[in-house]
Amino acid sequence: MDRQQVLNLYEWQMGVCFRHPAKGEVLTTHVKTIRPPAGGIQDVRACRECVLEMEEQRHGAAARRGQHYQPGCLAAE
Ligand SMILES: [Zn+2]
Repeated sequence: MDRQQVLNLYEWQMGVCFRHPAKGEVLTTHVKTIRPPAGGIQDVRACRECVLEMEEQRHGAAARRGQHYQPGCLAAE
């Protein structure tokens, strides 16, 4: 699976990447929902670069554990 195929598994909208807030509004996808102790819900969004990096890490971790790797599930974890 190439990078573009991985990216195609996600829905992209303009937003602020949690690792690159200085970049401002870029194409991002929702990867996590945080419930802060203070209450409410905070959406964590990541840009394409970060999603590919996180998928890469998951792929490596799955391979080390001998598990099947399935991309496109960042938001489900
Ligand atoms: Zn980013």
